[in-house]
Amino acid sequence: VLFLGYRMMKGKQKHSLSALDVMEAANTNTAVDLDHLKLLELIGRGRYGSVFRGCLNERCVAVKVFSSANRQNYANERSIYCVPLLQQHDNIARFLGADERLASDGRPEFLILMEFYPHGCLSRYLSLHTVDWSTCCRMTHGVTRGLAFLHTELYRGDQYKAAVAHRDVTSRNVLVRADLSCVLADFGLSMRLTGSLPCRPGDDETVAISEVGTVRYMAPEVLGGALNLRDCESALKQVDVYALGLLYWESFRRCSYLFPGEAVPEYQLAFQAELGNHPSFEEMQILVAREKFRPRFPESWKENSLALRSLKETMEDCWDQDAEARLTAQCAEQRLFELSLLSTHTAVHNHRNLSQGLWPPPSG
Ligand code: ADP
Ligand code: MG
Ligand code: MG
Repeated sequence: VLFLGYRMMKGKQKHSLSALDVMEAANTNTAVDLDHLKLLELIGRGRYGSVFRGCLNERCVAVKVFSSANRQNYANERSIYCVPLLQQHDNIARFLGADERLASDGRPEFLILMEFYPHGCLSRYLSLHTVDWSTCCRMTHGVTRGLAFLHTELYRGDQYKAAVAHRDVTSRNVLVRADLSCVLADFGLSMRLTGSLPCRPGDDETVAISEVGTVRYMAPEVLGGALNLRDCESALKQVDVYALGLLYWESFRRCSYLFPGEAVPEYQLAFQAELGNHPSFEEMQILVAREKFRPRFPESWKENSLALRSLKETMEDCWDQDAEARLTAQCAEQRLFELSLLSTHTAVHNHRNLSQGLWPPPSG
């Protein structure tokens, strides 16, 4: 049985350990017994890892396997999962352990074990299913709650949780539980913003700080090279919130209650209609940074109900061109919470929907 962190401390790895790593390793008492781990089926492939459904001592788990070329991404994701208190939050993916082993080609490979989420990522779920109002609110609220917690610097007893930026918020990096609640996952590019390793302008990592993430979800200031590195903490949180706005758009476009009496449109990724499946950095730069284009709201959202107005306003306040004008994740969380209550408030709906009996949707 390997104790997470113990092997790191034997000094086998090239990168040196900070006191923080050691503290965090000690914090996460996660035993992993790889001898009993079976990989059963490939369930996902991202930029950095292949994800398998696996079995560990009769328990179903997900295993993210990184090749040796992606060791840095692995080390970063593991260290973020070990940030104190993070694992206690209901909207952060459950981490079960990490280890390295030799692959069949003799090279080392790196494994992150996590809870298995049967529906896979949010993007996949939404492409297969439409969602009702309360489910859609609960899913997006959950993601937002997870992000707000990630962004928060926290002292609890003798534990310190740094503020962390996710830096790759997308609907593919959100996982869906069996009960359709959602968790934030894929912390390979995440970064501590406070504590002993805050980012500073002008250091070697400036480029790495400003240009990461998935091109489709990159904020205009990232695309345009105008990220405000003087206040790195706020700037990186604002970048996350921009992407969150796009994730809301993708989600609510699949909400059946927002399309009364008509077919719900097929699932689309943000900017898919404009730029297709593989937008380039340059295309995104022109569309989002220069032309300030944002996803279009469906025709039927012109309806002036309070719910639609608040929803559209929330998206726009997340993806504002002016990063400093964007909502904080905490504010977005509050907005989503209020939105979820609208379904039970009969006073808010418009006449058309009222007369059709379609608004408010039944709660629950
Ligand atoms: P990458 O860093 O390579 O993008 P991710 O952690 O985002 O890797 O995983 C890639 C994909 O694998 C996800 O988009 C999701 O579809 C699937 N996946 C990842 N983790 C799990 C999990 N715990 N349960 C179910 N599916 C998962
Ligand atoms: Mg991913
Ligand atoms: Mg990743």
